[in-house]
Amino acid sequence: MYKITLIPGDGIGPEIIETAKNVIDATGVVIEWDMVNAGLDVYAKEGILIPQKVYDSLEKNRVALKGPITTPIGQGFQSINVLLRKKYDLFANIRPVKSIPGIRVPFSNIDLVIFRENTEDLYIGIEKMISPGIAEAAKRITEKGSRRIIQAAFDYAKANHKSKVAVVHKANIMKLTDGLFLACARDIAKAYPEIQLQEVIVDNMCMQLVMNPAQFEVIATTNLYGDILSDLCAGLVGGLGLVPGANIGNSMAIFEAVHGSAPDIAGKNAANPTAVILSGAMMLEHLGEKDSADLIYLAVKEIIQQGEHITKDLGGNATTTEMSRAIIEKILTLKNNNL
Ligand code: NAD
Repeated sequence: MYKITLIPGDGIGPEIIETAKNVIDATGVVIEWDMVNAGLDVYAKEGILIPQKVYDSLEKNRVALKGPITTPIGQGFQSINVLLRKKYDLFANIRPVKSIPGIRVPFSNIDLVIFRENTEDLYIGIEKMISPGIAEAAKRITEKGSRRIIQAAFDYAKANHKSKVAVVHKANIMKLTDGLFLACARDIAKAYPEIQLQEVIVDNMCMQLVMNPAQFEVIATTNLYGDILSDLCAGLVGGLGLVPGANIGNSMAIFEAVHGSAPDIAGKNAANPTAVILSGAMMLEHLGEKDSADLIYLAVKEIIQQGEHITKDLGGNATTTEMSRAIIEKILTLKNNNL
């Protein structure tokens, strides 16, 4: 039995986390869920954004499935998501982006994984007003931070028989910061002669992804570019409702979808639960429960391909609950058929 921290978050978080939990339970993997919460809903009730019990649960269980948490724009408190990633040094934000048959998008052959550095860059939160009308932000890139995310990308490429890693940068302009990231990539690549290093400037990367995404297998990049490219890539396969993710450190892993709290559809039972369900499947793989993870991948793929129980963002009219119920029924059928 596993003990896992479950953080529903806010916005659409509570609706989709509940469905992901039910889907994971349907695979038969026995999990004792330790539900704690952080974010706006908690603040409204308890006057605190991250109660101590969230930290306690994370430090005890070391693995969590988390819903999205809102961060106010332009003012207010710092991102709870960024805070957790930095506090627990969850340096690798891993986001697989894969075409799912049945979704009407221009490309059907996308199969790439983004390795986004998760703890530094412009997200260190050092900003100041120099004088009225002039603001500045610090961008921090370190050799240690760069090397470990690039290494993780190459190790993944090697283990999964991928032939190339694209390192995305803007070293033509940011010669010291992105220059350091690129220099680390060139050095690390030497140890992997069988893997091609693709060096791509971030603006060109956006165009390449939109024109010919299948040329990329593994993408390694800094925090901000990784954040932006993740949403771009999600759009290529059918939207944010589909793309899962993991925040991995040396001693903790928090699994969560790429998308945010989607306030525009919160509370409407309209959110696509796929991204958080697939984040749950990534969590099962991390726990060594590959067969159960595969069961979820297959069930999700079949339900989307059938097209009868899909949410509005995918062109259907199912609710969140209906889509996840269909996925659970599919899992139970596949299990009964011993697939
Ligand atoms: P968002 O990802 O919440 O939403 C962008 C668009 O995608 C919206 O139109 C939304 O309806 C749609 N969308 C997102 N998830 C969907 C789903 N599962 N099914 C169907 N449609 C979906 O991005 P945003 O609006 O820029 O951000 C909202 C809030 O979320 C902000 O406060 C932001 O800081 C926060 N955020 C949190 C996380 C996180 O917790 N890890 C990640 C990104 C953004």
